[in-house]
Amino acid sequence: MIFRQLYDAGTSTYTYLLGDEITRQAALIDPVREQLERDLTLLRELQLELRYVLDTHVHADHVTAAGALRERTGAQTIGGQGGAACNDLKTRDGDVFRLGALEIRVLETPGHTTDSLSFLIGDRVFTGDALLIRGTGRSDFQNGDAGALYDAITRKLFSLPDTTRVYPGHDYHGHSQSSIGEEKLHNPRLAGKSREQFIALMGKLQLPRPARIDEAVPANRACGKAEPHGV
Ligand code: FE
Repeated sequence: MIFRQLYDAGTSTYTYLLGDEITRQAALIDPVREQLERDLTLLRELQLELRYVLDTHVHADHVTAAGALRERTGAQTIGGQGGAACNDLKTRDGDVFRLGALEIRVLETPGHTTDSLSFLIGDRVFTGDALLIRGTGRSDFQNGDAGALYDAITRKLFSLPDTTRVYPGHDYHGHSQSSIGEEKLHNPRLAGKSREQFIALMGKLQLPRPARIDEAVPANRACGKAEPHGV
C-alpha cells in the first residue's frame, strides 16, 4: 500500500494519500486548497491516478481542495450525509470504496459535526476531527453534539482492535499517529470518563471561534470552489 501523511502548517491539517501499488489507483483524504499543487505533483511523481477525494466533514478551519482536484483529475468527491451538496457521492456507514485491492470502509462518527466520517483501511483508521491524538474535535458549532461524539468514539472507534493505527485530521502538538489502545488508555477527555463527564468537560472548553469559519464553511459546502470570503 502506498501511504503518505501530508501536512498543512497554516491550519495544522493532515492530508492522507492512499494508493494501491498494482493498479496505481489513489485517494486523498482531507486535501487543503493551498496545497493543491503539492498534492498534484506528488500524484504525478508517484504515477498515481486519483479516483476519490474523501472529506471527513465540512471543515471550519480550512478550505478543501476537493472541487479543484475533481476538475484537474476527474476524481469523484465523497462526503457524508448532510455534508457538502456538491459531492459526487454522499456516503453512509458501512459503504466501501475500492482502490485495486485496497478497501476504504466508511464509519459514521458524528458529534464534531453531524456529517463527520472516519475511514478504515486495513489496520489504519482516519478519524478526521472525531478522535484526535490525546484529544477530540470540539462540539460547539456546526450542530456539534458532545454526547453523539462520545458515543461515536467509545462505541464505534473504540470497538476496533487496540492495534488499529489512528491518523487524525489535525494535530496541534507535534504528534502524527496513535493507536486505538493508546487512546483508550491515555486520551484525557475519554480515559475513565463517563458520557456525562465528557459532556460536562466539552461544555466548559470555551474555545475561540475558528479564525476562518465564515470563509471555510460556505466554501466547503461548495467543495472549495467558492471564492474566499471578502474577495
Ligand atoms: Fe473540523
